[in-house]
Amino acid sequence: MPKLRYLDLRRKAIETCLKMNAEGINQGTSGNVSVRTDEGFLITASGIAYDKMKPEHIVEMDLDGGYRGNYLPSTEWRMHMDIYRQRQDAGAVVHTHSIYATALACLRIDIPAFHYMIGVGGGTSIRCSGYAEFGTQELSDTMLKALDGRTACLLANHGQIAFGPSLDKALWLAGEVETIAHQYWAALQVGQPVLLNDKQMTTVLARFKTYGKQPGELGGGDAHAVFAPVRRDVPAKRKSKGT
Ligand code: ZN
Repeated sequence: MPKLRYLDLRRKAIETCLKMNAEGINQGTSGNVSVRTDEGFLITASGIAYDKMKPEHIVEMDLDGGYRGNYLPSTEWRMHMDIYRQRQDAGAVVHTHSIYATALACLRIDIPAFHYMIGVGGGTSIRCSGYAEFGTQELSDTMLKALDGRTACLLANHGQIAFGPSLDKALWLAGEVETIAHQYWAALQVGQPVLLNDKQMTTVLARFKTYGKQPGELGGGDAHAVFAPVRRDVPAKRKSKGT
């Protein structure tokens, strides 16, 4: 058998699937995971149980819908491909049918700014796409609209999809979306949550640009200037010119 390309990334994709199920944010093999490569992306094969998944079950695809190897890609490959085609910031995509996100997606409602953590998806809401049948271009198109300016959305009567710069970050975001959906659902059981206004969310969104990042991951400049604690064990650096 020819040597598999991207072996480490394939293993990392399998690890992400296993974590997704261990964290309880997916049901069986209904979700799928992908990661960008130089020429396209790698995506989980269709219908293979994650605990049986081997590196050859991760399918290599290009950005024109072509695939290599003996296994068919997940039926949802179009959504993954269209995210990589449209969004340069996407390095990995996680799609799941997590319970609470899916429940709200079946009500076809956007999750509003009931909690500041809504900002993890890049905006003041997590939108719900229109309905279209799984695996279709129509679904992919309505998803892209719901993802405009965002990194996650609900998919009507279906589930949720999230992307990030890496598999770890995409999985983390899918977990956050499920938590937010659960909390919104819980709040709705006892009343109508008070929503944060645009002014309150503007400052939250500015701060989310650096949320969860360590100093080495920041681009420099004043990116971490807002509310950052002062490091004591190294001498304070003088600001260099132009920052
Ligand atoms: Zn699905």
